Amino acid sequence: MPKRVLVIGAGFAGLAAATSLADKGFDVTILEKNSIPGGRARVFEAEGFTFDMGPSWYWMPDVFDTYFARFGKKTSDYYNLVRLDPSYKVVFGPDEAVDLPAGLDNLEILFEGIEPGSGVRLRQFLKQASYKYEVGMNKFVWKPSRSVTEFLSLKLLFDVTRLDVFQSFASHARKFFTHPRLLEIVEFPVLFLGATPENTPAMYSLMNYAEMALGTWYPMGGMHEIVKAMVRLAEEKGVKILLNQTVKKIDIHKKTAHRVITTEGIFETDVVVAGADYNHVETSLIDETNRNYDDAYWKSRVMAPSSLLFYLGVNKRLPRLLHHNLFFDEDFKVHAQEIYETPRWPSKPLFYASAPSKTDPGIAPEGCENLFLLIPVAPDLTDDEATREHYYNLIMDRLEAYVGEDIRNHIVFKRSYAHNDFKQDYNAFRGNAYGLANTLRQTAILKPSLKNKQVSNLFYTGQLTVPGPGVPPSLISGLVVADEVAREFN
Ligand SMILES: Cc1cc2nc3c(=O)[nH]c(=O)nc-3n(C[C@H](O)[C@H](O)[C@H](O)COP(=O)(O)OP(=O)(O)OC[C@H]3O[C@@H](n4cnc5c(N)ncnc54)[C@H](O)[C@@H]3O)c2cc1C
Repeated sequence: MPKRVLVIGAGFAGLAAATSLADKGFDVTILEKNSIPGGRARVFEAEGFTFDMGPSWYWMPDVFDTYFARFGKKTSDYYNLVRLDPSYKVVFGPDEAVDLPAGLDNLEILFEGIEPGSGVRLRQFLKQASYKYEVGMNKFVWKPSRSVTEFLSLKLLFDVTRLDVFQSFASHARKFFTHPRLLEIVEFPVLFLGATPENTPAMYSLMNYAEMALGTWYPMGGMHEIVKAMVRLAEEKGVKILLNQTVKKIDIHKKTAHRVITTEGIFETDVVVAGADYNHVETSLIDETNRNYDDAYWKSRVMAPSSLLFYLGVNKRLPRLLHHNLFFDEDFKVHAQEIYETPRWPSKPLFYASAPSKTDPGIAPEGCENLFLLIPVAPDLTDDEATREHYYNLIMDRLEAYVGEDIRNHIVFKRSYAHNDFKQDYNAFRGNAYGLANTLRQTAILKPSLKNKQVSNLFYTGQLTVPGPGVPPSLISGLVVADEVAREFN
């Protein structure tokens, strides 16, 4: 009889873990609380618009290719990827914006035009970043990080100094560029990691390599196409995906998980892989005595920001926007302080506007624009309708000033989403959107462990454990945990 594995949660990590385990011969069932799979990458339709609810940037296409290749498939078997050119727009004010072209030659020309000499330095910066990408994405992130010895054995294979682990990203970037606009452009990808450039190791310039050299892509139909592809592949491998199954308890007897109890039934198992929020699993699904970490540990974690989101259907096109638009028209330092140091609703936030209907007319009615607005905010803030509306108007003023036309009177669909929704929909710790910040003290073996230290057959996967937040790392997390389960239980 094949061993049974129950996977909690059908996010990217849960789907990847389940598919890989089924491929290795396990009998795998996913228990998912929501009515559709995908977790933070769910989708909804309204008034003829199709809204991706979470991720919108498709970076590191090689990771997705590796994922499907592992099962003898190609990304193109499932969805049609297009590279965006320009990659994105950075708005510095109503009359000042820069469009970032795809391709290094054109980027160099752009940089050179802003700061003479910076074109060549960009090439040098990216050459270093490519080494970090090579080592980081091909070696580091595939380590289960259960012991420091995993990394010691790698030491002989690469040059540690070139990885820049102990220098901050901010000081590294300033060795190459001085113009404030260029610094904002190179520091932007680091914001994905959930910490300020001052608190992020310079190793993460690998993100610049990912963005500038490997490009910004989009799967036609939307980001949820990736989820659909993964579900198809999982089911081809024999994974059973049970939706509307909220897990209430993992039954543990003599340090072994035997059963998982959901709102709908009881499931016997040999192994549990928890892909739901790590903190939720520890505090709500198992007894305190079996937890890996206590409340003080969780309190001391630096979280990546949460988000206030707006999904908007607009009954006209907005020619001045690109697919991705970053509004860096306020002081990032003040906003960052209001996220990390003195957490509060921000006074003048930066925000991100995505109009995927620029690339994909199929996700909006003809002549309309599909708009997604995101303000990064501190986790755990008081979230109410009046606050959401205040920020809606605040960023709409700036968006309208930039596009040079009225938007508010052309909204035919509007939905907001913030902390309370993250908690309700995903049991998100402190209403987090993208997990733990990638600071030096929360990297690799210093992240919450992917194995329960007391319960012999309970594993964790997803954005709160290794390697970290983001779609590619979550996918990798699922594959890494599957290898660990197979190593111990095959
Ligand atoms: C607004 C937003 C924008 C983002 N933008 C990007 C981007 O552009 N690019 C990028 O790469 N990444 C982006 N991310 C990050 C990325 O989406 C996440 O890191 C990734 O989706 C996390 O996947 P996961 O599988 O770890 O977790 P999740 O997607 O949260 O999956 C966990 C699953 O567990 C389920 N669950 C929870 N509790 C239970 C329970 N008790 N019983 C059963 N099931 C349960 C949840 O319903 C969920 O389906 C973004 C995230 C957000 C929120």
